[in-house]
Amino acid sequence: MRIYADNAATTKMSPTAIAAMLPYLTEHYGNPSSLHTIGQQANEALEGARGVVAQCLNARPDEIYFTSGGSEADNQAIRSAAKNGARQGKKHIISTAFEHHAVLHTLNALAQEGFEITLLDVHEDGVVTPEEVAAAIREDTCLVTIMYANNEIGSIQPIPEIGALCKERKIPFHTDAVQAAGHLAIDVKAQNIDMLSLSGHKFHGPKGVGVLYVRKGLQLHSLIEGGAQERRKRAGTENIAGIVSLAAALKESCDHLEENAAKVSALRDKLIAGLTAIPHSILNGHPTHRLPGNVNLCFEGIEGESLLLLLDDKGICASSGSACTSGSLDPSHVLLAIGRPHEIAHGSLRLSLCEWNTEEEVDYMLAEIPKVVDYLRNMSPLWRAMEKGEKPYVIQ
Ligand SMILES: *Cc1c(COP(=O)(O)O)cnc(C)c1O
Repeated sequence: MRIYADNAATTKMSPTAIAAMLPYLTEHYGNPSSLHTIGQQANEALEGARGVVAQCLNARPDEIYFTSGGSEADNQAIRSAAKNGARQGKKHIISTAFEHHAVLHTLNALAQEGFEITLLDVHEDGVVTPEEVAAAIREDTCLVTIMYANNEIGSIQPIPEIGALCKERKIPFHTDAVQAAGHLAIDVKAQNIDMLSLSGHKFHGPKGVGVLYVRKGLQLHSLIEGGAQERRKRAGTENIAGIVSLAAALKESCDHLEENAAKVSALRDKLIAGLTAIPHSILNGHPTHRLPGNVNLCFEGIEGESLLLLLDDKGICASSGSACTSGSLDPSHVLLAIGRPHEIAHGSLRLSLCEWNTEEEVDYMLAEIPKVVDYLRNMSPLWRAMEKGEKPYVIQ
């Protein structure tokens, strides 16, 4: 048995998304900028996809820009707002300590360029409150950027409320919705979102293609200079096959949003109940206000990396947090942000499910994971010291 429980890192493409892409790799290979028939067919496909994405978000087609993925969309949104702000002498940006690195590292770069960044603390449940955002707003704030749902611990932020207060204060509001799109209902108008990033490969679409939504009236600046593609905001011949496939995958996910969420959250809750029964374990993230597929726990006395390798031997593909930090021995910045001490943050496990996971797989994981945790604990001198009472447990 091989179980894929790492859907927050990437997903398997759906048959619909693959079928949608194939004609644009074979007979419809035109460049949308060409004036001839083959080019114009590609252009129609591009605009069709733009319309589909717009509809899924309740945006207008001319508010949708295709990018190379979530990271580029985050970079472009933040850099554009920073440039607009700087022109008015506003160089303060509000975000959180548990954003994705595509956001955090862009903000670090802006700090080097003279911007002042306020990273809000996150509570133990992994949620920031609108009141905290309101309290951080200053006269010179030019952007609030807060992720829709966290990629490691799954907690969902109060986006409509934060959006409403930014609207009232006339401050652009961007959200990295890469984990939310295709999984939670998004309505950029009703939720007061000015800019939003999403990525195809997190909802059964292809890798290397994403979307930046920018509300009409906000000025967007390009990161890449060149041709006049994407209304002069993103140069480069369009990835038509990827774009068409992303749109098909997003539509398919949005058409089945509620039934998928119901199915996946039932599996999630069964896993959480079973795994939190392991002594000295703790759930990370909000108990209920979390992504349908996200399970994240810390186990006292073990190393996340060893846990992952042993689980892989048992056919379970999991993660210790973000794919970007695995490989390094630093504990996750997200777990540190919610206040987990270093020694606990090291022993984390993220299982991220999709609608193709089964109850049988969940039962197998519930049978195997406690055995592996036990095995690792028995080898740990630290754990034995805690068992003998020579050292206190951190997780009670
Ligand atoms: C995956 C992810 C990204 C990056 O998207 P790419 O398309 O891989 O560049 C950004 N933000 C979050 C929250 C993500 O989960």
